[in-house]
Amino acid sequence: MVVRVDRDRCIGSGMCAISVPAALALGPDGLARPLAGYASGGAELTPELAEAVEFCPVEALVLHSARGGHRIAPAE
Ligand code: SF4
Repeated sequence: MVVRVDRDRCIGSGMCAISVPAALALGPDGLARPLAGYASGGAELTPELAEAVEFCPVEALVLHSARGGHRIAPAE
């Protein structure tokens, strides 16, 4: 699974970085970015990560399958 951040949408609220610090952090520009394993695939989808995606206030977080690239969440 891969985490992607839509940087045109992210408003840098930091909610995702607080709730899943192993997966997401705020970069120097103040916007969220996925950490190593989550940016390149192979990371497990945890309930905490699923919640962070669900509760991002601007729907900037998207989960994709590392195999095939299809979108896992949020639903379109
Ligand atoms: S919760 Fe959404 S808006 Fe807030 S920092 Fe994370 S990706 Fe950006």
